[in-house]
Amino acid sequence: MPRTRICSFCGKEIEPGTGVMYVRKDGTVFTFCSSKCERNMIKLKRKSRKVEWTEAYRKEKAVRVK
Ligand SMILES: [Zn+2]
Repeated sequence: MPRTRICSFCGKEIEPGTGVMYVRKDGTVFTFCSSKCERNMIKLKRKSRKVEWTEAYRKEKAVRVK
């Protein structure tokens, strides 16, 4: 049974067979649903909580609204 992975950046589930895996020099493994997420986290060094289309942002916002 294929394992479902969660995107390290946007928090969405990644369908088996899709997505990209990124291993940093220090051994930390990231999985991304798309190169868009990879680019945002690795190249642009964005925090997922500050990017509108991520789960982390939605959660953060939901907490703040209360
Ligand atoms: Zn993603």
